[in-house]
Amino acid sequence: MQEKGTISIHTENIFPIIKKFLYSDNEIFLRELVSNAVDATQKIKRLASLGQYNGELGKLQVEVALDAENKTITISDNGLGMTADEIKKYINQIAFSGATEFMEKFKEAKDANEIIGRFGLGFYSAFMVADVVEINTLSYQEGAEPARWTCDGSTEFEITEGSRTTRGTDIILHVNTESEEFLNKQRLQEILDKYAKFLPVPIKFGTNEQQEEDGQDEEGKPKYKTVETDNIINETNPIWTKSPNELKDEDYLNFYKELYPFSEDPLFWIHLNVDYPFNLTGVLYFPKLKNDYEFQRNKIKLFSRQVFITDEVKDIVPEFLMLLHGVIDSPDIPLNVSRSFLQADSNVKKINSYITKKVADKLAELFKADRKAYEDKWNDIGLFVKYGFISDDKFYEKAKDFVLLNNTAKETFTLNEYKEKVEATQTDKEGRLVYIYTNDPDKQDAFIQSANRKGYDVLLMNSPIDNHFVSHLEQKLDKTSLKRVDADVADKLINKEDAPEHILTEEQSTQVKTIFDSAINKPAFKVELESLSPDELPVTVTMDEFMRRMKEMAAMGGGMGFYGQMPDNYKVVVNANHKLITRILSEENTDTRAQLAKQAFDLALLSQGLLTGAELTEFVNRSVSLI
Ligand code: ADP
Ligand code: MG
Repeated sequence: MQEKGTISIHTENIFPIIKKFLYSDNEIFLRELVSNAVDATQKIKRLASLGQYNGELGKLQVEVALDAENKTITISDNGLGMTADEIKKYINQIAFSGATEFMEKFKEAKDANEIIGRFGLGFYSAFMVADVVEINTLSYQEGAEPARWTCDGSTEFEITEGSRTTRGTDIILHVNTESEEFLNKQRLQEILDKYAKFLPVPIKFGTNEQQEEDGQDEEGKPKYKTVETDNIINETNPIWTKSPNELKDEDYLNFYKELYPFSEDPLFWIHLNVDYPFNLTGVLYFPKLKNDYEFQRNKIKLFSRQVFITDEVKDIVPEFLMLLHGVIDSPDIPLNVSRSFLQADSNVKKINSYITKKVADKLAELFKADRKAYEDKWNDIGLFVKYGFISDDKFYEKAKDFVLLNNTAKETFTLNEYKEKVEATQTDKEGRLVYIYTNDPDKQDAFIQSANRKGYDVLLMNSPIDNHFVSHLEQKLDKTSLKRVDADVADKLINKEDAPEHILTEEQSTQVKTIFDSAINKPAFKVELESLSPDELPVTVTMDEFMRRMKEMAAMGGGMGFYGQMPDNYKVVVNANHKLITRILSEENTDTRAQLAKQAFDLALLSQGLLTGAELTEFVNRSVSLI
C-alpha cells in the first residue's frame, strides 16, 4: 500500500499562517492531540458497550513520550485507531476543513486576537510546533491493516503501510527549530498539568523513581531499592463529575486546596449540575476575600468534557460572581468563536442565569438554615451580595430577602426588619421613610450622636461598594430616601411638623448671620440660621446630599463631569436657639464677638476633621487667648 496525494484547498499553504498567528498560544497543540487520543479511547469503550467491538479492551491509557535526542514528541493511545480510508476522510478532508474554516474566520476577524486561542484547530495544531507529523495507526476493525500518514506541513501527504501491531494510534511530532522549548520535560509536564490534569483516561508521561523497602541488611535495618512507577499526570474522576451525595465536605475542601494551594479555606461552595436545557457541571467556591480582591479575578477554570479550556470566563459567569473560585465544565459552551459571538450565544446566556439562580438559592438556604452563621460570614459575602443586588435584577429579586444592613450599634437587619424598626421614628411629614447612614463613623461621630439623641438609627455604609448600594436601595425601596448623617443638622434630616420655637427676633437673626458671614469670610461656606433644639451644637457644617453624591460619582468616573468641576460647597448651620448665640449677641466688643463666632465655626470643622494646617494652629492659639 502506498499512496501520495494532495490536500485540495484554495489557500496554497496555510500552515505558515497558522504557525505565525497562533504562535503565542502554540502550547495548545498538546491539549488537542491528547484530547483526540482520549476521545479515541472513549470511542472504543463505547463501541464495546454497544457490542460492536468484542476484543479485549485492555487498560485504556494515553501516553505522552518525549525523545529530546531525536527531537520528537509522541502521543499514543490504545483507542479505536484508523484505517487508511478513515485517515483520508477524517484527517485529509474533515480536519482540514476545520483548518480552512479557521482561515475564513481569520480573514473576517478585525482583530487576530479575537480568534487566537479560542479556535481549537484540532489535529492540525500539530503543525504549529512540528515540521513533519506522522500518524501510525491500527484500526480496531477486524482484518484492518496498519497505516502510516506523513505530512511535512505542505499540502502534500503520503500514506504507506504502518508498523503498529496493536490497536490504537501514535501521533509523532518532529519538532521544528522554533519550538524546541517543547523538547523539555518540565515544560511538557507544565502544559499537561494545565490542560490535562482532569482528563477521564489515565495519561502517562514518563516514569517516577520511588524508594521501596527491600528486606533488611545484616544489622537488621531496612534496605531500599529504587523502583520506577508510571508518572500518571491526571486525576480521572475529579469531584465535579461525581454526584453531590457521594461527596463529603472534606472532599470539596481537598479539591479546593488542590486548585489553590495557597488560599485559605473557602466559606462555602455550590455544586452545579444540569443536563437540560444545556449541559453543565462544576463546583463554585466562595473564597474568603482579601483586600486585594482585584487580583483574585480569573480564578474560575472552564473545562469542556474535563479538558481545560481557559480561566477567562468573563462572559460565561455573571460579572458580579467573577470573584468566585472553582471549575465549570460544559460541552455546550462554544469554544471556537470570538468574544462577541459568545456574548450573544443563547446557551451562554442561559448558563449565566442558571449560575445566578443557583448562587441566590444557596445564599437563601444558608440564611434560612443558620442566620447566625450567615451573619458571621457577611463580612466576606456582603460584597458579592450587594454587587449582585445592584447589577442583576433577577438576583435582586431573591437577594432582597437576605441582603443585610448593619447599624452603628453593630446590629444586623434584613430590609424588612429595618423598615419595621425605624418606621415609627423616621417617617417625615409626607409619609416618606428616611434612612440615615454614615460612611465614616469616626469623622461623623458628632452627627451620629446628634441623630441618636433624636432617636434616629444610623446605618453603617462604609464598604467600597456602599455608594452604589445606597443609590440602588433608594431606587428599589418604596417611598424611602437615604441621607448621609452629615447631610443636614439632625433636626432637619427628617422633615417633621414639630419644629422648635424661634427665640431670636428677625432683626437679631440678620445680625447673627452678618457676624458669622464676616467672621468666616469664605465663599464656599454659606451661613444659614436655623432654630434647632438648644442642646444641638451651636454650629454645624454640612454638605448637601445630592451635591455630594454627584461629586462622588464624578470622582469615580460616573460621567457627571460637570459636578466634578464644581467647588465644594458647604452649608454652615447656626443654631439660633443655642445659648452661645445669645451670648455672642449680647457681647459688646465686636472683636470678641467675631472671635467667638469664628471659634464656634472652627469647632464644627474640627469635629469633622476639616480643620488642618495653619487654620488649626490659629484655632489653638485663639482658644488659649479666649480661655
Ligand atoms: P475533532 O477532534 O474536533 O473531531 P480533530 O481535528 O482534532 O477534530 O480530529 C479530526 C478527526 O481525526 C477526529 O474526529 C478523529 O476522527 C480523527 N482522529 C484524530 N486523532 C485520532 C486518534 N488519536 N485516534 C483516532 N482518530 C483520531
Ligand atoms: Mg480534536
